[in-house]
Amino acid sequence: MASRTPTSRGRRPAVPEGLNETWAKDLTDQFRRALSTKRMNTLTRNTTQQQQQSPGAPPSYSSLRNIPLVATAPSDRNSLRFRSMLLSLSNTPCRWENPGLLDEALRSIPLERIYDQAQEESDLYLAEAASLGPNTKPAWGYQDCVVRALMKWFKRHFFQWINNPKCGACHAPTIAVGMAAPLPDEQARGANRVEIYQCSNAQCQAHERFPRYSDAFVLLQTRRGRVGEWANCFSMLCRAVGSRVRWVWNSEDHVWTEVYSEHRKRWVHVDAVEEVWDQPLLYTHGWKKKLAYCIAFSADGCQDVTRRYVRNFGKYGLPRTKAQESAVLHIIAEIKNMRRRDMNKTDKFRLEGEDIREDKEFRQNVIESLSREICRMLPGRPDADMLKAQERAREAQLARARNQHNAQSFNPRDQQQQ
Ligand SMILES: [Zn+2]
Repeated sequence: MASRTPTSRGRRPAVPEGLNETWAKDLTDQFRRALSTKRMNTLTRNTTQQQQQSPGAPPSYSSLRNIPLVATAPSDRNSLRFRSMLLSLSNTPCRWENPGLLDEALRSIPLERIYDQAQEESDLYLAEAASLGPNTKPAWGYQDCVVRALMKWFKRHFFQWINNPKCGACHAPTIAVGMAAPLPDEQARGANRVEIYQCSNAQCQAHERFPRYSDAFVLLQTRRGRVGEWANCFSMLCRAVGSRVRWVWNSEDHVWTEVYSEHRKRWVHVDAVEEVWDQPLLYTHGWKKKLAYCIAFSADGCQDVTRRYVRNFGKYGLPRTKAQESAVLHIIAEIKNMRRRDMNKTDKFRLEGEDIREDKEFRQNVIESLSREICRMLPGRPDADMLKAQERAREAQLARARNQHNAQSFNPRDQQQQ
């Protein structure tokens, strides 16, 4: 009954003669209905999926990082809460801007020794540059070397890392037993919480208080603490020796310092706890840690510096769910404007230029990271993990060969001894 033309593909129904128009209209209607149902199904499916993935959460930062965002004032509860937190954190570096106290802080530092070391290192960089050619710039300048020497002294001779403080009475180790309210003198020195420890020595059992001070100038006297105290006190001392300094807060419970290198015209990562200089990939590539936010605060600005520390967002980025990204931009701009409100035009202009250069540096980081990833995926390119695995296999083979050789050369003597 069906007449098939040689060109038909078998899907077209037979068209009764004289009914061409009605048939076409019916088919169009059917097609419209089918399309409409399909669209509705897709829409419902997508909405359900989105709701299942993250109820009420903003889209992940990784999905947004390539879309130009417009700063929008925070309006939802999460973004407003994040704003309050960042505003409060942003005060930390402002507390160091006290010339009298900074001068006093300088008296705690063996300045002559630090300047001598800095001069020595700076001369080495100069000599190295000279050996490389007449137009080569030294890797680091004198002031960079001052901060490097300061970091070494701070870590090796000045500040102490404390997990559990030793018993004040008998110096035995202590065990954490809880928290307590600060005593009036602790409160007067800025401690907002106090950890309580008990001596593990059965004859002693004395209690030891560990007030967590957040005042960098008080920390100059106590000279002990964990990462918060370290970064706070060290950053303040960098300021005291005349560097421009940033205090970097990370949402995964870490803080560190950034110092502006006039020589390199860029901000440099400094972690006094680790005695590490300019190794921004320490946390991700080194510690295999995933990070969401790294926000830098200074007396003259505020910057989201996450892209300095997380180059590969797919691998090391955590979802940024504390606020809408457009709100984060707004909050950072708000803090920046607040810090620069009373500045003259020249300084403002200079800092804006610096911000633009830094943003360019971040974009360059992302591009480099992406191109490395692409190179890694290209067929025929050696994969870093594969190379490591091959290296391990080679080492294991060598170790086996060595063991075999040792066994063979020692066996005769062993037999003689038996
Ligand atoms: Zn004790």
